[in-house]
Amino acid sequence: MRNNNNLRIQKDKYGHDKILLPKLGLVKFKTSKKYKELLRKGSDPDNPTAEIKHVTIKKENDKYYAVFNITELYVPWEIIGPRQQLGIDIGCSKLAALSNGQEIPNLDLTLEVDKIIQYQQKMSHTQPGSIRHNEAQRLYNLWTKKLINKRNDYYDKVTSYIVKNSSFVAVQNENIISWKHNKYLSRKLQLNAPRIFMDKLEYKCIWNDVEFIKVPKYFPSTQICSECGKRNHNMSGLRNLGIREWDCPHCHAHHGRDINATKNILNKGLEIVGTTVQ
Ligand SMILES: [Zn+2]
Repeated sequence: MRNNNNLRIQKDKYGHDKILLPKLGLVKFKTSKKYKELLRKGSDPDNPTAEIKHVTIKKENDKYYAVFNITELYVPWEIIGPRQQLGIDIGCSKLAALSNGQEIPNLDLTLEVDKIIQYQQKMSHTQPGSIRHNEAQRLYNLWTKKLINKRNDYYDKVTSYIVKNSSFVAVQNENIISWKHNKYLSRKLQLNAPRIFMDKLEYKCIWNDVEFIKVPKYFPSTQICSECGKRNHNMSGLRNLGIREWDCPHCHAHHGRDINATKNILNKGLEIVGTTVQ
């Protein structure tokens, strides 16, 4: 059956993931963790990075199977209008949040990382110089290269998109400490490396005459109300990393954590260069 937005993964009243099928309703299913993540992405109409194309229901040995056809897409980077001033929060759950409300997802590198770890372990379990060791080494190098190329390609697309669309860019690289490090990967191979992304963005801005400002790390971009400019002390400390939305105790404006932070980053950047927002 083709997907007309009615085939998706949905939580039932107990919080378990189920497939919502026309006529049948919510049905239990089994799949790998990675695939489930892709199904979730595909089920979210606001997430443009994956799409469930169609589903085939099969019956084999008295069991029903759902076979999904999912496309993973790159977000189409297009010109979004007049060049704008952008505040950018380089975050941990996503690659970046922009002050125009856009969010740029992290790249899914699960396959590459799994392969790298697999061949690394194979290398450590075989005799150096042996055929099996050399073969593991070759595949390790191959997947390492794949990961780096895929990431560079993605970062190139994203940074070009930002540079084309902006006249001024202010960034803050939030809380590197809270980044999830994979203990098996060297620094160079860290999954979604914020530093590499930021450096690329910086030099592309400079090459293209887009003003680029780094907002200091200590600037509390997530704690200030972008409406009234007052600080919300309830938002201080690491414990608030989990707070996604809040109301300003002073002016009662309602804020999404990331978009509010990016607006503050933009304002702070403009303040640093001596310009104020109109
Ligand atoms: Zn306020």
